[in-house]
Amino acid sequence: MDSRFKFLNYSRRIYKMTSTKDIAGEIAELKKKLNAVILAHNYQLGEVQDVADYVGDSLGLSQQAAKTDAGVIVFCGVYFMAETAKILSPEKTVLIPDMNARCPLAAMIKSDELRKVKAEHPGAPVVSYINTTASVKAETDVCCTSSNLLKVSDSLDSDTIIFTPDKHLAAYLQSKTEKKIIPWHGYCLTHVKILPEHIIRQRKLHPEAKVLVHPECRLDVIGLADETLSTGGMIRYAKSSPANEFIIGTETGIIHRLKKENPGKKFYPATELAVCPNMKKIDLWKVLASMKNMEHEIRVPEDIRKKAKKAIDRMLEIV
Ligand code: SF4
Repeated sequence: MDSRFKFLNYSRRIYKMTSTKDIAGEIAELKKKLNAVILAHNYQLGEVQDVADYVGDSLGLSQQAAKTDAGVIVFCGVYFMAETAKILSPEKTVLIPDMNARCPLAAMIKSDELRKVKAEHPGAPVVSYINTTASVKAETDVCCTSSNLLKVSDSLDSDTIIFTPDKHLAAYLQSKTEKKIIPWHGYCLTHVKILPEHIIRQRKLHPEAKVLVHPECRLDVIGLADETLSTGGMIRYAKSSPANEFIIGTETGIIHRLKKENPGKKFYPATELAVCPNMKKIDLWKVLASMKNMEHEIRVPEDIRKKAKKAIDRMLEIV
């Protein structure tokens, strides 16, 4: 075994023996020293959400990344999210605690494949979900998130739209618009694990509960829900709803925040299978190691960054 690896494992064991509170304390000190901000997605481990300055969905995180004054952004999410932060704030140091935290959905389309689709549909604008690489964003007219895809689609003059990379999100958009949506064939490996039978079973167990599902779910799952919402939408809905019980059809990490912010209410995952292994690659120890060693820094080639930024800025102007 490589000696650095042995050392990392040893350090990790020591930190594992240290309490979460101690590690969180060290992270807080480093945050001040580095003038850093920690941004975490709603699907992150609870321990990571608890040390973050801001926890949110892709749209909220993009907005925070664009407006923060901090010199260092520690991004606890998957790679494309940290890359988006770097695109918006090139002068800042953006770190991701684990380089292998990648979104399989974002990996399902490449920029050369998108160029081919564009050539087949000249004049049709490209709307890409934020879950795409910088090089795909660079080939995109406007980005969207799960909370603003309809607004973004409505803002375009064209009756035909190329939508990448999620086919379920595209189907959901198609169900809401008269425009012709040309979908790419990607999908989220986590959300397709949520099946109609899971919703039916949970409804039987909790007949008073409201069912909230994410639009990355299959349409037959969406058809059984009370509300289809982004993760940020779920957080707001649960807070303001008079209901006391909720069945949650998205990645299970969000339940930590829902419970924390609504202590009197009950939240049940549609299925325990809806876990994104990539989102769970980052833990508290990795956040600390990332800040101590200033690793792993995100870099985006400037020509790609500028083009990708246009697509993100256009979205941020619409919302
Ligand atoms: Fe990608 Fe799905 Fe995981 Fe989100 S939950 S990071 S879309 S694989």
